[in-house]
Amino acid sequence: MTDERASVYRLHDAKGALLYVGYSVSPKERVRFHRYSQTWGHEVDKDGTTVQWFPTMAAAADAEVDAIRSEFPKFNKRVQRAPAATPERRRRQILRSRGYPYCTETGCKEVTLRDERRCPEHVETTKAAPPREG
Ligand SMILES: [Zn+2]
Repeated sequence: MTDERASVYRLHDAKGALLYVGYSVSPKERVRFHRYSQTWGHEVDKDGTTVQWFPTMAAAADAEVDAIRSEFPKFNKRVQRAPAATPERRRRQILRSRGYPYCTETGCKEVTLRDERRCPEHVETTKAAPPREG
């Protein structure tokens, strides 16, 4: 399932306003769910849905978060609005979308290179730490 292709879909109302952005491996089913199960489902223009495909779930999930943060769909609530993307944040998004892992240090959100377990900062602090046993 990790390498399954996935989509980002956008639901619009009859006037073209963006109502909701989501990601799914089966967007038709998700769109149907939103139209019939959400309180705002009647606002969805059934011909106004767009679907954009990505090679992996992770890439689609990243694109969904970016879309929610930058396009302000009316009914998405899950993602906090973030400050504008910095070059550094953009670099991490690209690395994440290519499947690079995170630093294993607790709480660290840095993306590492494929064969590394810690980001450059935590490699340094780990080396500098005094020995614990003794
Ligand atoms: Zn780190």
